[in-house]
Amino acid sequence: MTTKFDLIVIGGGSGGLAHAQRAAEYGAKAAVVEFAPLGGTCVNVGCVPKKIMWYAGHHAQQIQHARDFGFAVENNGHDWAAVKKNRDAYIERLNDIYDKNLNRRGVIHLQGYGKFVDAHTVEVDGDQYAAERIVIATGGYPIVPRCHGAEYGITSDGFFELPERPQKVALVGSGYISVELAGIFNALGSDVTVLVRKDGVLRNFDSMLSKELQNAMANSGLKLETGVVPHELKKTESGVRLLAEDGREFVAYDAVVWAVGRAPNTEQLNLKVAGVKMDGYGFVPVDEWQKTNVDHIFALGDVTGQAALTPVAIAAGRRLADRLYGGMQDRRLDYSMIPTVVFTHPPIGTVGLTEQEARKEYGDDVKIYESKFNPMLYTFSEEKVQTAMKLVTVGEEERIVGCHIIGDGADEMLQGFAVAIRMGATKQQFDDTVAIHPTSAEELVTMR
Ligand SMILES: Cc1cc2nc3c(=O)[nH]c(=O)nc-3n(C[C@H](O)[C@H](O)[C@H](O)COP(=O)(O)OP(=O)(O)OC[C@H]3O[C@@H](n4cnc5c(N)ncnc54)[C@H](O)[C@@H]3O)c2cc1C
Repeated sequence: MTTKFDLIVIGGGSGGLAHAQRAAEYGAKAAVVEFAPLGGTCVNVGCVPKKIMWYAGHHAQQIQHARDFGFAVENNGHDWAAVKKNRDAYIERLNDIYDKNLNRRGVIHLQGYGKFVDAHTVEVDGDQYAAERIVIATGGYPIVPRCHGAEYGITSDGFFELPERPQKVALVGSGYISVELAGIFNALGSDVTVLVRKDGVLRNFDSMLSKELQNAMANSGLKLETGVVPHELKKTESGVRLLAEDGREFVAYDAVVWAVGRAPNTEQLNLKVAGVKMDGYGFVPVDEWQKTNVDHIFALGDVTGQAALTPVAIAAGRRLADRLYGGMQDRRLDYSMIPTVVFTHPPIGTVGLTEQEARKEYGDDVKIYESKFNPMLYTFSEEKVQTAMKLVTVGEEERIVGCHIIGDGADEMLQGFAVAIRMGATKQQFDDTVAIHPTSAEELVTMR
């Protein structure tokens, strides 16, 4: 017998859970299909454990600051295994909380792997369930490149399984996950090399951010190798060696981490029988209402190939439920002006257009404001980590269309500025706002 629901969500990650729970609050009879622990990538192998490890690295730096400010403290080494144990226990508690949240709202958790049987029916471990609407929220997985010996490397998933800190590490990839993990290893004492295909890291970000991050990485001892196209990984007694296509050899690492992008979890969903189209990479394209090419099947989060961030998946899920079950006809997610943070050391906060994008769109109407300084935090330090900021404005009224910050505190600075920028703030309005002194953030309202 086929059990019937109003809504089946495939994938119990950030977006899927948010959607199902909001729909249930409006009275929908909803089920979530999930084979892994609830919470998805973010909770289990993404944002949450990553931020915990970022804090570990941050504390290593704080010990140095404490010394500069008169404390007789020393860094006597870091217990990776102890942090991992606490981190894993914390995540288990979160998994439990997600389970309870579903129960509280009457959402049924169908434990298992879901795949379509037809456009209204999903099979989970041999049982069939039908629904008026189905939402695909299956997220993605880290890509392992097709090169010889690729299996000797690990991915970001493997990073979270490491029982101890590898001493010599190579990160392959130039995106945010690569530089974040590199920063964590480096701050905790590993010898770290980042290997990138082209000429630098964070190439899709404002060029100031990639340049300043590369400076900060170099100053903190992180090595960067450019133009590296991996050809083979070889396991040897001294560690894993990476051979590049141009013949260069990078030796020898206790861990090589592939951070070369993520692919969508769609291969085994049997989307064809439901008539749902994918793009050439396997992502599920949606319109502005999260609708796939099939009227009653929706997709949200990483599987759509749009801004792959937890709050984006959550916001898309909640807004879709507001519209379909809460009577809010026009409710949908506006994908412009999404603020985001890269948890490097120091962190990066960025929202809106990069200078490159703004110049392409607005040409000579673009005016840039920039600032670079040594934050007060480093007053007594020999090695100072600079903060750099950029505001991208357009038109005579100098509307702010981009804000890019790298430096201590950038992660906590950006959210409020993002609200103002989303509301259409101009440079004059920033200038009219009284600065908070002494902070780094005050530079954003005092730039000339
Ligand atoms: C290392 C790392 C760090 C990150 N850091 C950040 C950060 O700091 N900030 C941020 O905003 N974002 C971060 N992200 C991105 C963030 O984790 C994702 O954007 C977010 O989790 C996407 O949510 P989602 O609901 O689309 O998919 P997911 O959270 O991936 O959930 C999808 C779920 O679907 C399940 N599933 C897949 N196929 C099936 C199936 N057939 N049947 C049943 N279940 C299935 C999966 O098991 C998974 O639980 C990070 C990601 C990584 C990898």
